[in-house]
Amino acid sequence: MRYSIVVPVYNEEAVVLECYRRLTEVMQQTHESYELIFVNDGSRDQTASIVNQLCASDASVKWIDFSRNFGHQIAITAGMDHAQGEAIVVIDADLQDPPELILQMIEKWKEGFDVVYATRAERKGETGFKKWSASMFYRTLNKLSDIDIPLDTGDFRLIDRKVCEAMKTMKENNRFVRGLVSWVGFRQTSISYVREERFAGETKYPLKKMIRFASDALVAFSLKPLKLASILGSVVSLFSFFYLIFVLAQKLLHFSTTPGWASIVATILFLNGIILVILGLIGEYIGRIYDEVKQRPLYLIQQTRNFAQEQPLSAH
Ligand code: UDP
Ligand code: MG
Repeated sequence: MRYSIVVPVYNEEAVVLECYRRLTEVMQQTHESYELIFVNDGSRDQTASIVNQLCASDASVKWIDFSRNFGHQIAITAGMDHAQGEAIVVIDADLQDPPELILQMIEKWKEGFDVVYATRAERKGETGFKKWSASMFYRTLNKLSDIDIPLDTGDFRLIDRKVCEAMKTMKENNRFVRGLVSWVGFRQTSISYVREERFAGETKYPLKKMIRFASDALVAFSLKPLKLASILGSVVSLFSFFYLIFVLAQKLLHFSTTPGWASIVATILFLNGIILVILGLIGEYIGRIYDEVKQRPLYLIQQTRNFAQEQPLSAH
């Protein structure tokens, strides 16, 4: 098998057929063998039956059916775990990432690059808020994280088999796939493209999922937020120390020491605010440590189709 295309799908009945058509058209131009792996992330619409029909008519379509919704990043991971190809491409089902770009990625891969990621030069048909929050997210992450995660780059990318094998050795539960790909290194390059509008349907990333996604990324790739506590702590104690000297001096030199209710309340409120924020922050990390310690499988598969070995119910 030469190429594996991994497509996570979650309630994508409106786009999945068109996605199949466009991907097939592109992949046939390579004149090499390929497989299209659709990972159903617990869709509750007709997506499953549509892909099942595709499986029956086309042996290059493969199907991984999760037992429930595990999330986009986990779906990608499952696709990579099952991919057989020498090069693996991850692409969204909604055709925001043009499949035709895969041909350019393959060219770069043949030149010897192990990771070819697609950077968004422009995003079409997305709300101002989404564009702004995404741009902020990539920039903050880049500042805070200890590794270089490319700006404005989603999961649309081609990775070589050896990168895929490296990814498989990382079993962490809170997965931020694009960060992991940067972390493994190897020879990486980018191509830039214009991100299209969604072909049909609506985004499967509501605000809640976006926040979860962003905090997963930050916590997984940066310890700097934790250091915030010690920095704030030292600044505040330094000021307190000077204030203490001032208060003592006042007392010793018999100046008036009228008790200031307002300043006490203000200090208490301010300090408690900081303490609560930092407790919450530490909680974010501890919660994720707990998740990892439990060592639950990343995902559960209900059924697979068209793979060499069919697995009825398996844990990974
Ligand atoms: N997706 C998924 N599970 C989820 C949410 C999304 O598998 O819980 C898939 C979705 O079907 C799509 C891709 O992830 O193929 C990207 O989602 P979407 O296009 O809704 O995100 P956006 O482009 O709006 O950020
Ligand atoms: Mg999309």
